[in-house]
Amino acid sequence: MSKRDYYEVLGLSEGATKEEIKKAYRKLSKKYHPDINKEEGADEKFKEVKEAYEVLSDDQKRAHYDQFGHTDPNQGFGGGAGFDGFGGFEDIFSSFFGGGGRRRDPNAPRQGNDLQYTMTIKFEEAVFGKETDIEIPKEETCETCGGDGAKPGTKPETCHHCKGSGQLNVEQQTPFGRIVNRRVCHHCEGSGKLVKDKCTTCGGNGKVKKRKKIHVKIPAGVDDGQQMRVAGQGEPGFNGGPPGDLYVVFRVRPHEIFEREGDDIFLDMPITFVQAALGDELEVPTVHGKVKWKLPAGTQSGTAFRLKGKGVKNVHGYGTGDQHIRVKVITPKKLTDKQKSLLREFAEVSGDVPDEQHDNFFDKVKRAFKGD
Ligand SMILES: [Zn+2]
Ligand SMILES: [Zn+2]
Repeated sequence: MSKRDYYEVLGLSEGATKEEIKKAYRKLSKKYHPDINKEEGADEKFKEVKEAYEVLSDDQKRAHYDQFGHTDPNQGFGGGAGFDGFGGFEDIFSSFFGGGGRRRDPNAPRQGNDLQYTMTIKFEEAVFGKETDIEIPKEETCETCGGDGAKPGTKPETCHHCKGSGQLNVEQQTPFGRIVNRRVCHHCEGSGKLVKDKCTTCGGNGKVKKRKKIHVKIPAGVDDGQQMRVAGQGEPGFNGGPPGDLYVVFRVRPHEIFEREGDDIFLDMPITFVQAALGDELEVPTVHGKVKWKLPAGTQSGTAFRLKGKGVKNVHGYGTGDQHIRVKVITPKKLTDKQKSLLREFAEVSGDVPDEQHDNFFDKVKRAFKGD
């Protein structure tokens, strides 16, 4: 199940300031608080808002979210598994800032990197969901060497530069005295091992690039920019660690006649002024098919009507949106002589007075220019 984007939950853009995040949270948490809002789904929305705020208000969690999107809530953030795919970075950071990170055994199993795949889908596919196969370029563990990068029959040796620790101490003379910096060993790239006879299939790095077919189920109701996590379909882990995850980001193509806003759909419907005046029985297109609908007599251009439940089924199961019809009265441009004479006749019979509202309008104009 894909989760709503945290920024979207709070109605913010990605560059939102801390103050804006706090403000949006205060407003929305009040709006959906279960003690105040008894509407169906309000408590889920409240939880969603709370979760979004917990992540976006925390610098570290927010940075992680901005880079990788939603991760498994059971996995947690920070020093835990969330960062495990990026051991190299953490090692460098912990040596710079001292003490912050935990000491890591370069041979310990680590989770593989996460992957992101952008998928462009049709408007209807987003509305109704779809099952499909995607092909993604992916690193796989090399089968020839089993991932250690050594030629079959040989084994990687302990790196003699770092003695297998994956880290090197670099002494530096500074105005403040001698400083020892710990850095990732560049000879073995932090693995603590060196491959003498490289595997010819993978060139010694233990991984090969392949295209892999993955079956994905696009949930009904996804919207542009939302993403879905496919667990375990990222890059392979290190030293036998678990693979990373795949994040599928959806881009939804615009529709020719429908516009979508959240779970609601908007349709601009042109009608003739005769239909507007007399009313009519119309067939209105919706994503669910054509629907018979009665246009009331005397409809003004720009009036909006609602077809309840004819929108998009909410991706989290919070009901279904509506379709809104905005009618637009089209004034004819080309008229035959007969049409013209009928309209003139119509105007004569009507006494050239549009209607009461317009009457009031002209009264107001008169008063405005008189100044009383
Ligand atoms: Zn080394
Ligand atoms: Zn290999």
